[in-house]
Amino acid sequence: MTAELSPVLKQATPVTVARGEGVHLYDEDGRRYLDFTAGIGVTSTGHCHPKVVEAAQRQVATLIHGQYTTVMHRPLLRLTERLGEVLPEGLDRLFYVNSGSEAVEAALRLARQATGRQNAIVFQGSFHGRTMGAASLTTSGVKIRAGIGPLVPGVAVAPFPYAYRLGMTEEEASAFALRELDLLLASVSSPKDTAAFFIEPVLGEGGYVPVPPSFLAGLRERADAHGILLVADEVQTGFGRTGRFWGIDHSGVRPDIVITAKGLASGFPLSAIAAPHALMEKAWPGSQGGTYGGNAVSCAAALATLDVIQEEGLVDNAARMGERLLSGLAKAAEAHPRAADVRGLGLMAATEFTAPDGTPDADTAARAHKAAVDAGLLLLTCGPYGNVVRMIPPLIVDADQVDQALSIWSEALAQAGA
Ligand code: PMP
Repeated sequence: MTAELSPVLKQATPVTVARGEGVHLYDEDGRRYLDFTAGIGVTSTGHCHPKVVEAAQRQVATLIHGQYTTVMHRPLLRLTERLGEVLPEGLDRLFYVNSGSEAVEAALRLARQATGRQNAIVFQGSFHGRTMGAASLTTSGVKIRAGIGPLVPGVAVAPFPYAYRLGMTEEEASAFALRELDLLLASVSSPKDTAAFFIEPVLGEGGYVPVPPSFLAGLRERADAHGILLVADEVQTGFGRTGRFWGIDHSGVRPDIVITAKGLASGFPLSAIAAPHALMEKAWPGSQGGTYGGNAVSCAAALATLDVIQEEGLVDNAARMGERLLSGLAKAAEAHPRAADVRGLGLMAATEFTAPDGTPDADTAARAHKAAVDAGLLLLTCGPYGNVVRMIPPLIVDADQVDQALSIWSEALAQAGA
């Protein structure tokens, strides 16, 4: 028998990689690619950063698996201390699992246990993961939900302040979405039944749309007024990706729970939720856990990741390079009317494609994406219609590499007939 991979996997590019170094990936024939996907926003310190490699190698030779519900280990304790230095004030209790989805599940369990309420409110276009609970909170594309229901009940979907698609300014979109949220709280999900709002500070898989700070402030007000928890899903936006340590830092709003994964450990599987002690102590002891959570090698890699982010000033670099990338994308789009909206925050940058009749233009997006990949620039698409092409380079990216990517992108837009 010859086994093959299941067709359930959909691969965004035809590339098979052999190795990675910094912002580059190399295929099996030695061809070099500029990697502006970073493994979906994971390899923020670049591929195989020497400090991360060294820390992981050292840990592999010392202790690989120190199962945290059986025995405790130093890398996990040390990481918890270090995360205390970067987490929003007051979120001083941590709990570790392996993936973004698992951490979202953990946050949903905690929110329900702590409030004694069942409902969660998410915002149209949300992506919180693929496990059943997380998929129930996900509205970024029907493929995540199709054919697997019924999903977890108690989830209501409120409009997202998507200024471009709504044809509004950011402030108008924010005011509109808050009014709709109030309507939802008055008509569908009573505040007394609502445990939490789940929000990504930049809508990720749903189309790379930064959340206006006024909208986050409005969520905080409603959360305070009704005892609803504000959960910031920082799986994609955290760890410097947006040019601040957390995506929510751009708004000055304090979340009740932060979810982190992806950039946390440079590619080793690790995720965490953080919340204040008063909240965490309401969880049932032993109601969360897992065989691999807080793996020792992943924790060592996360500690090295934090060192690299701090020593190399990667958060500031993300802000600077993000501005360069966004302004370059806007310039590239000028001559291409179908490249209709350019937006982003830090090193989450995107171009949305729209046909002359105003409908989402996934075909042109796909052609531009393919032309870029063929020319050696790895990119991803996103959005429910697949008409948004996004760039998520490692946070170590430099000005030359940003410019190289922009030059390939301009050519790709021309080839795609955008
Ligand atoms: N939340 C957000 C905001 C994400 O972007 C993702 C992954 N794209 C997840 C949750 C799920 O993470 P994972 O794939 O590690 O389960």
